[in-house]
Amino acid sequence: MYEKEYILIKKELTDALLVANAYIDEVESYTAITAPESTLGTILSEQTKSDIKLKQFYKKKRKLMFFLDKLPDVSSFLCVNCKQIIELDRLLLMPKASFCTKCASES
Ligand SMILES: [Zn+2]
Repeated sequence: MYEKEYILIKKELTDALLVANAYIDEVESYTAITAPESTLGTILSEQTKSDIKLKQFYKKKRKLMFFLDKLPDVSSFLCVNCKQIIELDRLLLMPKASFCTKCASES
């Protein structure tokens, strides 16, 4: 049951996780090194910007891991109304969403 959906959701989650991991790796590697000619103000403002973004990606990664854990229960990723897969972007914003965007906007 839901084998096709399982594969699709798993691929989407894994892809998103790869993107998040690549971003985290990249930012972690360059935040440790700051150009010696940078002023302290520049260093701090650059770090703050990347820190905020990094935190967003950590949060996203935690959610993706949570979804992957939950994935064996494919039905929790499907819209209770139309049985289509709920969009990942929507789940990331509302992990407990039980309707797809279309059904939610029609209700
Ligand atoms: Zn729906």
